[in-house]
Amino acid sequence: MTYKPGVCNFCGTGCGHNLRVENGSITGVFASPGHPVGKGRLCVRGWHIHELLGTKERILHPLVRRNGHFEKVPLSEALDLVADRLGGFAGSEAAFWASPRASNEDIYSLVKLARSVLGSNNISLLSDDGHREAVDVLGGSCGIPAMPGSLADIAKADFLLVAGADITRQNPIVGSDLHLAALQGADLVTIGARRTQIAELSRTHIQNKPGTIALVLAAMAKTLIEDGRAAREFADNRNSGFEAFAESLRGLNMPDIERLTGLSSDDIRGVALRLAGAKRAMAFFSSGISGLDRDTIAVLHNLFLLSGHAGREGCGINPITGICNIVGGYDMGAVHDLWPGYAPVGDAAAAERLKTVWEKAPTTTAGFEVNALLADPEKKLKALVVMDHDEDTGRFAERIRSLDFVVYTGAYANPFLESAHVVLPAASYVETDGTFTNTERRIQLSRAKAEAPPDALPAWRIFSEIAARRKQDWGFRSPENVMREIAKVVPAYSGVTYAKLEKDFGIQWQGAGAGTPAFAPISGAFQVPETSEEYPFLLLTGEANHFWHRNTIMRRTQIPMREYNALLLLYPNGFVEIAEEDAKRLGLRERTPVSLTSAEGALTSFTRISKALKPGAAYVPYFLHETIARLLPSAWGSSSRGEDAAVPIRIEKV
Ligand code: SF4
Repeated sequence: MTYKPGVCNFCGTGCGHNLRVENGSITGVFASPGHPVGKGRLCVRGWHIHELLGTKERILHPLVRRNGHFEKVPLSEALDLVADRLGGFAGSEAAFWASPRASNEDIYSLVKLARSVLGSNNISLLSDDGHREAVDVLGGSCGIPAMPGSLADIAKADFLLVAGADITRQNPIVGSDLHLAALQGADLVTIGARRTQIAELSRTHIQNKPGTIALVLAAMAKTLIEDGRAAREFADNRNSGFEAFAESLRGLNMPDIERLTGLSSDDIRGVALRLAGAKRAMAFFSSGISGLDRDTIAVLHNLFLLSGHAGREGCGINPITGICNIVGGYDMGAVHDLWPGYAPVGDAAAAERLKTVWEKAPTTTAGFEVNALLADPEKKLKALVVMDHDEDTGRFAERIRSLDFVVYTGAYANPFLESAHVVLPAASYVETDGTFTNTERRIQLSRAKAEAPPDALPAWRIFSEIAARRKQDWGFRSPENVMREIAKVVPAYSGVTYAKLEKDFGIQWQGAGAGTPAFAPISGAFQVPETSEEYPFLLLTGEANHFWHRNTIMRRTQIPMREYNALLLLYPNGFVEIAEEDAKRLGLRERTPVSLTSAEGALTSFTRISKALKPGAAYVPYFLHETIARLLPSAWGSSSRGEDAAVPIRIEKV
């Protein structure tokens, strides 16, 4: 029996763990005591990762669909078939879905296959909704397209703001750090339409009407400007963008803000002044369906700049990623319009760099986001390559089934298999070396700890085998080779080697473009979702305890699965949370069957009476993915609107 170090593969926090290996199997997990992020802690998900790794739902053999049924075939035959079929499509006809749970080496190899071998820029990360907004705002205004600071800075800040995120559920260890800082005296403030667990632990919770966080933040900024509390170095700098931002706030008036947000201007002003008086202040928000939209992130950044809390240690606004390698996926260029290293597709210097390393020019034909291709029947999409992930096919199941050629490559069975023409088994993340980049840009190396099944290759090798069959020998013989190439192509990874990563729990990449932060442009529209007589409630979606994303992984683990089943025994059709006042008014009790109707669909569910909501708001956890898919068919697109994706609905007893 041995213990081998690695990184938790669930959320973007990136806690360190030691896995117990017995007779070639992973049988236990222990927190890594010296790890700079986890500091000896794991959350309930992290403590059960070995159960997931022992699941029986493993893909063991290459499969090819013939006459409607899968046949086991030799690996070389499956690879030949995939290379041959993919080579028959134009680049614009093929799309590639990378997994944000895969390693940098695996994602990079898929990106290279798509862009260099098959001539396609149609590549996206599955489930990255909401992170792009942070990349654009922070990249444009700070020069670092990710969290600018470090998680360790939480302990140095005296003012902490959590905007919209149910952070103790999505990233429990970051939530613990925030809670600990509050216990030690930091001024913890939360903003959101739902009184979450972190809101309960805060000094002040600003419970706004759904979809109005941007307006609350803008009101705080307006207060600071009008009180003469704007940081002079930015307000006086004509190139900082201050004037444009101040102008976009001029039309706002406090009576309207009070009416739209449901808050008093005194409360908003009080928090704004506490922020302005802080020595060091940090804000946190999530990506995904409980995250923030682009305008809200821009206003949040501008507020922190205005109050003098940007561009220095212990300050700034920080996106906290929901899946372990979303940051790495962006770094590797698994984004339709960004090449590796965040260069826009077509950028001349990046094209030259890629051409030198790849020995072939990357395609400059504009690509599309995969969701957008699938959503538009006019787009001529014919082939789809899907990389290991825990998501399902969602609202696109029918379109995916209609494609000419679908390849699924992964370690575990997944609903994508039903649509696949070829399935290629892959090594799991504990069966190969690989790196993962957490929310604070920490590149961490996770070494192989167990043998992969005989037919399961690491994904980087699967993609290089396909490339070789298309007459491109990449020369990748190990994941370390792949990292050597990444270090040449992605400027922030320059100089990164496995030898360096093995020391001190990885390396935090630094943004070469980091400079004096500037104000981010905002639309100034401040649109808020409206209710009507027909749809008097605003529906929110988000996390639920013990669950993670759409639960395709957590249901394979013991305690989280038990909690999941226990909750669904009480609420077999899921639940909708509503405030006590609304329940009384509608004559509803706990677990009353109700119908929920939006302009886009309807479903039946059960009531759950909640003190976390104010009257007029409703909440459904999105781990019940069918619920969201049926009630909110545009959930995948609208999740990039985050909290502002509040949907008008009506609730009726059935
Ligand atoms: S907080 Fe995230 S990374 Fe840490 S143990 Fe939990 S799931 Fe894993």
